[in-house]
Amino acid sequence: MHNINTELEKIIHDMRRIILNAGIELVSKGLVAGTWGNISARIGKSSWIAITPSGRDYLTMQEEDIVIVDQGCSRILGNLNPSSEMPLHIAIYKARPEIDAIVHTHSTFASVCAVAGRDIPPIIEDLVQIVGGSVRVAEYGFPGTDVLAENAVKGLADKQAVLLANHGMIGCGSTISEAMMVCELVEKAASIYLYAQQLGGAKELAADDVLRMREFYLKHYRLQRGE
Ligand code: 13P
Ligand code: ZN
Repeated sequence: MHNINTELEKIIHDMRRIILNAGIELVSKGLVAGTWGNISARIGKSSWIAITPSGRDYLTMQEEDIVIVDQGCSRILGNLNPSSEMPLHIAIYKARPEIDAIVHTHSTFASVCAVAGRDIPPIIEDLVQIVGGSVRVAEYGFPGTDVLAENAVKGLADKQAVLLANHGMIGCGSTISEAMMVCELVEKAASIYLYAQQLGGAKELAADDVLRMREFYLKHYRLQRGE
């Protein structure tokens, strides 16, 4: 049995609610279809993680369905199986201590790039601010495996998003709302990239402008947004 005091209980309750609402948003924004995709977040300063259950409908999910796990992949709370991508989420939390929330989607345009094996280049300002530059395609790994987790961590490097070859994408943030926004902006950038290619080719931003915009986001814009 784990010792869960009232303060921790409240943090878990609040995080489960935030994740439930984010799941509904994922469906309503068309970033996932059916039960695919998954969402997780760190539980306050503890080493525990709240994560969506595997293969469950976002629209009927209940608070207790969100599973609480430790970083050894053991279940602390909840009766359902945690997401099959739990190893991927935990690998990112271990590699990137500043990341507190992760959203995995199968959105269409991001998946087009992931299927074609094409990185999304640094072409538009909101993307480079929030992601930190281009969005790379990680090498292929079978879903739910440690190979996928390792490849995703490599592809992510120091950015806030990565494409998963022939699969989808991952968006990371300091909050669920930021990780969700990363997913939306990557999806938008992927569609802009494809349309621009039809018009003769997307033009990339200059590398030093990308760095300046990223710094502006991290030092000012993100704080204004309350992240
Ligand atoms: P889960 O339903 O197990 O979270 O898996 C969905 C998915 O997207 C696998 O990559
Ligand atoms: Zn997936």
